Amino acid sequence: MAGINCIGILTSGGDAPGMNAAIRAVTRSAIFGGFKVKGIYRGYRGLITGEIQEFKTQNVSNIIQAGGTILKTARCKEFQTPEGRQLAYETLKKEEIDALVVIGGDGSLTGARIFATEFNFPIVGLPGTIDNDLYGTDKTIGYDTDINTIMECVDKIRDTATSHERLFFIEVMGRDAGFLALNGAIATGAEAAIIPEISTEVDQLAELIQSGFRKSKNSSIVLVAESPITGGAMALAERVKNEYPQYDVRVTILGHLQRGGSPTAVDRILASRMGAAAVDALLEDQRNVMIGIRNDEIVYVPFSKAIKNDKPINRELLNTLRRLSI
Ligand code: ADP
Repeated sequence: MAGINCIGILTSGGDAPGMNAAIRAVTRSAIFGGFKVKGIYRGYRGLITGEIQEFKTQNVSNIIQAGGTILKTARCKEFQTPEGRQLAYETLKKEEIDALVVIGGDGSLTGARIFATEFNFPIVGLPGTIDNDLYGTDKTIGYDTDINTIMECVDKIRDTATSHERLFFIEVMGRDAGFLALNGAIATGAEAAIIPEISTEVDQLAELIQSGFRKSKNSSIVLVAESPITGGAMALAERVKNEYPQYDVRVTILGHLQRGGSPTAVDRILASRMGAAAVDALLEDQRNVMIGIRNDEIVYVPFSKAIKNDKPINRELLNTLRRLSI
C-alpha cells in the first residue's frame, strides 16, 4: 500500500444493480482502514471534467438497497484517446487520489488496464455487469438481480402465451454472452435458449422446430440472447413467419427493464464482499487485478485474463435445459 492515502471510486459503462452496494463497501472498508475516499461522477468522464467529491461514511448511507449507481455512469470516448487519459491523470494528481477502484464491465476494465499501464497507477477492478461475461469470477455484480427480473417477466408472458397457444421469442440482454438466456430459460421452464456461444455450431432454430418442440405443448417460450450472432428475437420471429407459417409467433424484448430494481440478497452480498476485498487488495499492493469470487473464495484475477478470455458456457446447463423441456 506504498504511498496510498486516498482511494477514488467510479462506476463506468452499463449500470448494474448492486453497484451501490459495491460503492458503499469500498467507501466504508477504506475509511475503516484509515484511507480518504473520493467519489468520481459519471465514470471516466468525471476524471476528465473533475466531477469529484470526498465521501464520508454517511455519503453511502441507505444505498445498499437501491438499484442504479449514485455515482452515475457514462460512456466516455475521450478516455479512449491518450490526450483524454492524460487529462484524467492530471485530475487524479490534482485531487491527490493515489489509487482507483473501477466498477464496471469488460470495456471499463479494458480502459482501466490501459490507464494503469500507461501511468503506472494502482487500479483494482470490480466486475459490475449484468452480462456475467468476465472471466475469473463465478458471478458478476448485477447478474443475479437481472436473472430474477427476467424470471418474473417471463412468468407473466407465459400466462398469455398459454392462453393464446403462441410461440414467444423473448429477447434478453447479455451482449455476446448467453448466461442470462440459458439460465433464464432453466429458471422459467422455457422450451429453449438461443445463445451466441453455440450459434456457430448449429442452426438452433431449425433444430428446435425439427425436434417437434410443440408436440406436447400448447405454448412455447424461447429466450434469445441479444447479439448479432443470434440475430436477436425479431429476426428469429421473421424466419419462423416465413419458414413455418403454422406457428402463431410473438416477440417481447425485455430491454432496459432488466437493468433496474433493488439488488437481490445475492448481489448485495457479492458486492459487499468484493468491495471490501478491493481495499484489501490495495493494502496488499495488488494492482491491475479484478476481484472475483470463485467457489465462494475471493480471488485476484489479472486484468489481462479477466478481459481477454471468453468465459465458457457450462454445457451441462444446455443439456439440462434440453432434457427438461421435452
Ligand atoms: P462496460 O464497462 O459496461 O463494458 P463500455 O464497453 O461502454 O461498458 O466501456 C465503458 C467505458 O470504458 C468507455 O466509455 C470508455 O470510456 C472506457 N473504455 C472502453 N474501452 C476502452 C479502451 N479500449 N481504451 C480506453 N478506455 C476504454
